[in-house]
Amino acid sequence: KNFQHVALIIGVTGIVGNSLAEILPLSDTPGGPWKVYGVARRPQPPWNAEHPVEYIQCDVADGKETSAKLSPLTDITHIFWVTWANFPTEAECCKVNGGMLQNVLDAVMPNAPNLSHICLQTGHKHYIGPFEAFGKIKPHETPFVEDEPRLDVINFYYTLEDIAIEACKKKQGLTWSSHRAAVIFGFSPYSKMNLIGSLCVYAAICKHENVPFKFPGTKAAWNCYSVASDADLIAEQQIWSSVDPIGKNEGFNCSNGDLFKWKHVWKILAEQFELEYVEFDENEPYVSLTERMKDKGPVWDEIVKKNNLEATKLEEVATFWFADVIFGFECMLDSMNKSKEHGFLGFRNTKYSLISVIDKMKSHKIVP
Ligand code: NDP
Repeated sequence: KNFQHVALIIGVTGIVGNSLAEILPLSDTPGGPWKVYGVARRPQPPWNAEHPVEYIQCDVADGKETSAKLSPLTDITHIFWVTWANFPTEAECCKVNGGMLQNVLDAVMPNAPNLSHICLQTGHKHYIGPFEAFGKIKPHETPFVEDEPRLDVINFYYTLEDIAIEACKKKQGLTWSSHRAAVIFGFSPYSKMNLIGSLCVYAAICKHENVPFKFPGTKAAWNCYSVASDADLIAEQQIWSSVDPIGKNEGFNCSNGDLFKWKHVWKILAEQFELEYVEFDENEPYVSLTERMKDKGPVWDEIVKKNNLEATKLEEVATFWFADVIFGFECMLDSMNKSKEHGFLGFRNTKYSLISVIDKMKSHKIVP
């Protein structure tokens, strides 16, 4: 087959990586037909294997392994960076995430003469600062806009952009873009931060134990306007900037383009799992989701068995700590003006984005 472009997805089983793996090979995807290589450390799971991707098991934190496995791929034209490593301090995050990207560039740049674009996925922490700085530094004013100066703290998102910018200086015609997501609504049981996946698991546990499906967050989070980023939409924006000259050497916010409230989403979640909708109760003390779910491993094993689900462990499919972060404070909003002004007009109705993720969780037998 004559391919027009060749993608290397680093993090192909992640929340956006899996969307890229699904969308890039489609016949009507801009810049196509695309050949797609996909990298992750674990063996390819069945829900990812349905996409026509050449799967490469490789730990990109390991320079030698990365060189051995990626330098033979001489036809790569685009790198999609949809991965990350989490460490207790941001200094470590900068070192390791920067090292991972550098390892991939060192393996690909000298060997793939047609490499033309590096697409980075980052997020709102570009404007808020890293997790360790929450509450300690003043974030940018909302709605976040792309052209604000960087915050005066280290941030592995800045490290990634700097490495990509340096690489582009070294190779004529090589460009970069970064895509700054809000909380992502997407399907991947392998993601380190999957809010909707975690809420599906929480709902399934409430249903199984016949207990009320309570919102495990603050009143501020329940009532405020929120924004989210559909994983397929992020993939579409990344593909747009990969092929459209106006989408290059820039950072772009990427959210759905509408507003929602968790109190409304909660109703949809309750409906989808046939649970009774419970209003937020100010008189009850705050209990984090992590705390609520701390002993539920064996309950999850029972649910998996009873419903004949894919074999998973609770700590794999649910990232309750991330829900606690999101539900701990009022959501910060961003602006999609720059993206639209540059020509990317994609959007999602967050309600349908939510339902589509729940449907995927059910149809892949991750939750009942
Ligand atoms: P995920 O955790 O969903 O996916 C990570 C992917 O990378 C998986 O495929 C994982 O598979 C793979 N991976 C991890 N480490 C390595 C490694 N050393 N070598 C090769 N593959 C590896 O990632 P996200 O999409 O969530 O994160 C990407 C960026 O998006 C991050 O910077 C994050 O902060 C940002 N972001 C995420 C949000 C969210 O809601 N998830 C919200 C806003 C921003 P395996 O483990 O098998 O290797």
